[in-house]
Amino acid sequence: MQKQTVAFSRESSNLFFHILTKCNLSCSHCYINQDQHGADTLDIETIEAWLGLFSAKAPSTNLIFLGGEPTLHQDLSLAVKAAKRFGFKSITIDTNGYLFHDILDRISSDDIDYLSFSLDGATPGTNDAVRGKGSYDKVLEGIKKAVGKGFSCSMIYTVSARNRHELKQMPGLVRNLGIKRFFIQVIGIRGASAGHPLQVSKKDWLGTIPETAEKIAGQGIIVTYPKVFLDPEDKFECAGNVAENFFVFPNGRVYQCPICEDFPLHSHEIRQNRLVPMPRLNEKDLFSLNIPEGCVMNKLLQPRNLAYDRDGKPEHRIACCMLKEEIMPSRTTL
Ligand code: SF4
Ligand code: SF4
Repeated sequence: MQKQTVAFSRESSNLFFHILTKCNLSCSHCYINQDQHGADTLDIETIEAWLGLFSAKAPSTNLIFLGGEPTLHQDLSLAVKAAKRFGFKSITIDTNGYLFHDILDRISSDDIDYLSFSLDGATPGTNDAVRGKGSYDKVLEGIKKAVGKGFSCSMIYTVSARNRHELKQMPGLVRNLGIKRFFIQVIGIRGASAGHPLQVSKKDWLGTIPETAEKIAGQGIIVTYPKVFLDPEDKFECAGNVAENFFVFPNGRVYQCPICEDFPLHSHEIRQNRLVPMPRLNEKDLFSLNIPEGCVMNKLLQPRNLAYDRDGKPEHRIACCMLKEEIMPSRTTL
């Protein structure tokens, strides 16, 4: 197996496109905040126009369709085909597993690179307590159907104090599911999670995540998880300064840092199908602040994962939330 930190690069960008905010579930940690992101569903003409705004770099841009639940959009299949015409480097649909509007019959496995399913527990009890009754079964059923139709599937597990204890059971659960990638995410303190102390301590994170990630990778699955805590020799970099990530919401807000999505700090806005920079002060003015704690947004908005020694020095620096560790299974385990 080969473990590496995925370096930031302007050569490869990511476009996280929320085409609507509506959802059939109401997960307890949902990061969608309709006060900030609106309740619009973009029509297909607008989706195509907005994809066009990012199309100059399409061949080096990974596009992820998100919601709410993107399969609730009746024209998601047309949006995928438009993205394909623009030539995006990769196309992913993130789903909660309900796969509305017969999406698996309306697109083919050649149209997208990944269908990514969110599951937040190894058992229905834990997952459904977070994501809603019946959602565990829907995810497993959806993966089965999608794999059967030849789609490449991945899984996203968002770790919080409510489900960290079940992460160790995930290697057993995913063993025969046929997924190709497994993403571990850390819970963000925004949307429905704001104000709830669900973050995982450094000790718990480091005591669970790397070991579980290796076990899953040992089964031939590519595993990606956020670095979170920088080692003393690691260099800190803010993706807002050195990479290109765009988080687009249906009310036109475009963020470059997901941590500040609960606030009107977006650096751009789409107005009349044009991408317009926002006046100061916005997130971009904060990216260059050099602080001993590492990520400035973390310090401002979710400082609970910081600790200081007696001299007031931070005990560790927090990495950019977009800095990932990736474990590639070796050829022999594939
Ligand atoms: S986290 Fe995703 S699936 Fe859950 S309520 Fe929010 S948008 Fe829906
Ligand atoms: S998470 Fe922190 S380091 Fe990353 S883009 Fe946001 S402000 Fe920058």
